Amino acid sequence: MDKKSAQDLTTKHFSRFGEFLVSFELSKHGWNVYNPVYDEYIDFIIHKHVCKDCDRRWNLTPALVCKKCGKDFSKSQKNKIIPLICQDCNTKIKGNKTKCPKCKSTNLVRQPTCDECGGEIEMIDHKCECGSKNYVTKFRTIQVKSSRIEFNERTGKSKNTYAVDLKPKDLIEDDYHFFIWCLVNDYDKPSFLVMSVQDFKRVMGDSLKGISFFKDQDRQHFSSKTFGKWDEFFNKFDKLN
Ligand SMILES: [Zn+2]
Ligand SMILES: [Zn+2]
Ligand SMILES: [Zn+2]
Repeated sequence: MDKKSAQDLTTKHFSRFGEFLVSFELSKHGWNVYNPVYDEYIDFIIHKHVCKDCDRRWNLTPALVCKKCGKDFSKSQKNKIIPLICQDCNTKIKGNKTKCPKCKSTNLVRQPTCDECGGEIEMIDHKCECGSKNYVTKFRTIQVKSSRIEFNERTGKSKNTYAVDLKPKDLIEDDYHFFIWCLVNDYDKPSFLVMSVQDFKRVMGDSLKGISFFKDQDRQHFSSKTFGKWDEFFNKFDKLN
């Protein structure tokens, strides 16, 4: 019974908790997540590199590959690279030597060499599995809103609803800006709603012109089971792509 849950957190800590859950979820979808140093409206800047042609994750670090046999030394094989070659007798020399162990020549050159075929290792730029050599860098800005399940203050009973506040100042007019609502149920399990500012405006419809929205008093309440009219945004992390 002593176990702490999201229900015990203060409002401020709960909002940090929501941000943490969102950042973790974003990283699962391949995004690198950054905190702006100073900003009141943007909680995260996220970015990722993807193939321009097929949208697969892109690896920016070049690969170390043998020119002759194609062996890839990039990951765990780096210590197998033979670093030196004797110019006089062509012996491949492991380790950091100044003299050829075979002919005693000091005429050694640095040439990263394959331990299996003796071919030269070169650094090549990453290529996508689809064959593309082009990547794009995507940046997005994210505003996180978090909610716990509401309960009736008087009876202490669950209302089975979530509530999210949005204000005119939240409506940043930028196609790269998104809202992520992090909804945490009574078992601390989060659900995420992902929407663009345009999505939000479309679903809000005329209530955007309502006086309560203008006065920063608009609070969207919706079912914690079906998410009501916001249901179409459930787990829509693809919208960020
Ligand atoms: Zn590709
Ligand atoms: Zn090789
Ligand atoms: Zn030699």
